[in-house]
Amino acid sequence: MKIALMCRNAELYSHRRLIEAAQARGHEIRVINHMRCYIDIASARPALHYRGEKLEGFDAVIPRIGASVTFFGTAVLRQFEMMGVYALNESVAISRSRDKLRSMQLLSRKHVGMPATVFAHRTSDPAYVLQLMGGAPAIIKLLEGTQGKGVVLGETQKAAESIIQAFSSLNAQFIVQSFVKEANGEDIRCLVIGEKVVAAMKRKGADGDFRSNLHQGGEASVVRITPKERATAVAAAKAMGLNVCGVDMLRAADGPAVMEVNSSPGLEGLENATGIDVADRIIAHLETVAKPHSTRTRGK
Ligand code: ADP
Ligand code: GLU
Repeated sequence: MKIALMCRNAELYSHRRLIEAAQARGHEIRVINHMRCYIDIASARPALHYRGEKLEGFDAVIPRIGASVTFFGTAVLRQFEMMGVYALNESVAISRSRDKLRSMQLLSRKHVGMPATVFAHRTSDPAYVLQLMGGAPAIIKLLEGTQGKGVVLGETQKAAESIIQAFSSLNAQFIVQSFVKEANGEDIRCLVIGEKVVAAMKRKGADGDFRSNLHQGGEASVVRITPKERATAVAAAKAMGLNVCGVDMLRAADGPAVMEVNSSPGLEGLENATGIDVADRIIAHLETVAKPHSTRTRGK
């Protein structure tokens, strides 16, 4: 196959691994920095130009679009889709996953377990918002945040109210979530490929931090997940329409609670913690599904 790897930095661990895995399986893989692409839109003749050249002949595209460039990145990916190139994750699904609120709505529609969540714009009544999801302690999350930045714990009613007030007055978009205390600063990352969980790890936050993000000093270890957790991860991936994704969940008292679905999951923590060659599994999956003109939505 001739594969395009859409990414800005080919040196990142995950990208290096995908390149190695594709080459090891005998494929041609080319790094395309989407930020340097020109999208050529003319009736019935979609094209992409890159460094003075027209991109042609690709069988599949692996998008690795950074959160800060979702708008332009998904536009380039959509152009690949319109050209009939098979996208490992489709532009529509990536856009969905980048919007935490929209994701939660789609997951709830499919009855995927999640923490009780409330969204309000500029509320003047923080006490009411808190009451809706069961009162303090509460998690307040900026919708645009990544890597655990923008996730705050309001431990008492007063603290939670002040945080909601502060975010409201800054005009920030945020959700308020019940705090899953029993998760104990740990979460589970399941890597879904196709309709299977191929690897899972547990992440534990740095001492005293309720956030388990590796970017915040958390540590990863291999974990055995339950059949319910497995089914939840697969259902979440399906609800989002993502073929490959990382599903983050908390072990809540009443079962798995999904927090977010990541369409460009990092491979380093996961491969190191589990010893599983995730990059190879991704390419192997691509071999079985990549057919020209078979992208489901083609950007719709
Ligand atoms: P980000 O997208 O910035 O990583 P997350 O929603 O994944 O934000 O939250 C970051 C971390 O905070 C999670 O990995 C988890 O450990 C913790 N966390 C998030 N939401 C909750 C919650 N409702 N209850 C308990 N812990 C939470
Ligand atoms: N056009 C998209 C679709 O139906 C958007 C709807 C959604 O996010 O569910 O695939």
